[in-house]
Amino acid sequence: MTSAAMIQVRDLVKTYGDKNALSGVSFDARAGEILGLLGPNGAGKSTTMKILTTYLSATSGSVTVDGIDASSNPLAVRAMLGYLPESTPLYADMVVYDYLLWCGEMRGLAKADVIKRMADVARVVGLENVMGQVIGTLSKGYKQRVGLAQAMLHNPKILILDEPTSGLDPNQIIEIRNLIRSLGQNHTLILSSHNLTEVRQICDRVVIIHKGAVVADGTLDELEGRVASRHHLIVGVQTTDAHTQDAVKTLLAETPGAQAVTFSHTSQSPVPTAFFDVEADTDIRSALFERVRTAGLTLLELRRKSLDLEGIFQSLTQSL
Ligand code: ADP
Repeated sequence: MTSAAMIQVRDLVKTYGDKNALSGVSFDARAGEILGLLGPNGAGKSTTMKILTTYLSATSGSVTVDGIDASSNPLAVRAMLGYLPESTPLYADMVVYDYLLWCGEMRGLAKADVIKRMADVARVVGLENVMGQVIGTLSKGYKQRVGLAQAMLHNPKILILDEPTSGLDPNQIIEIRNLIRSLGQNHTLILSSHNLTEVRQICDRVVIIHKGAVVADGTLDELEGRVASRHHLIVGVQTTDAHTQDAVKTLLAETPGAQAVTFSHTSQSPVPTAFFDVEADTDIRSALFERVRTAGLTLLELRRKSLDLEGIFQSLTQSL
């Protein structure tokens, strides 16, 4: 992997009517890396990918691929990219072989070249045994392989894959993830996903998009480190009524270092306990313990909340 930016996305804005789908998205994809665009449904991932692949024009902002501006030279950029849209328009009645041949010719490749290339691509994506089969009779996992094959026919150095595992069953997901990882050895690859586990398994780096804006950009280890440096505590205090809950909340919030305190729930067993989520920049467990004790209250629980990937994602997107 080198550090050169193969793709530069700068300040992309896209409005659909009066709706802002992207409001200033910027990121780089470096040569040879697998970059994950992660975000919930509606975040703007597909829109970003469509602009990247020149299938959609941005309202403003720019995309540069290997030094070439996408809006002024879309054909040169398309030649460098292979694109797997979220729902690949496959022709169910066509035989895989004929479909791929047709796709290659549509791309402007000579028939002899397509045929040669098809053999290579079929081997890489594991389609060799179904080249004579009608597309409509293939499993979803194999249809996705056909989609990948069409994206790779012109031997692009970059692959853009929009939610490549959506709609697949668990076994197919594993197969396609492994395939994508192996494709990443020879391509710069950008894939979108709303699944953190997937991004963790496949990607070198992640750009998190939320409501049309980038909220985080880095390796998952970096993002985890960022969130882990904050302390999330769960504090359970024996209480009897709502008034006490408010008083305890204030008491906790006034502990030096406490950033945010929220009441989460009350449990009745074995003794009525009010639970609070406490966020802090430093470890304030002993200070919290002392404050609760000094106030004459009974601390029944005090523990760190471990943040899994879902927690990181929530923490990064919640405040927006
Ligand atoms: P994602 O891929 O992250 O699910 P999209 O890029 O598809 O998100 O959508 C981003 C936002 O733009 C969403 O709010 C979506 O409803 C809206 N949007 C996408 N395509 C269109 C369109 N053709 N017309 C109007 N709004 C659209």
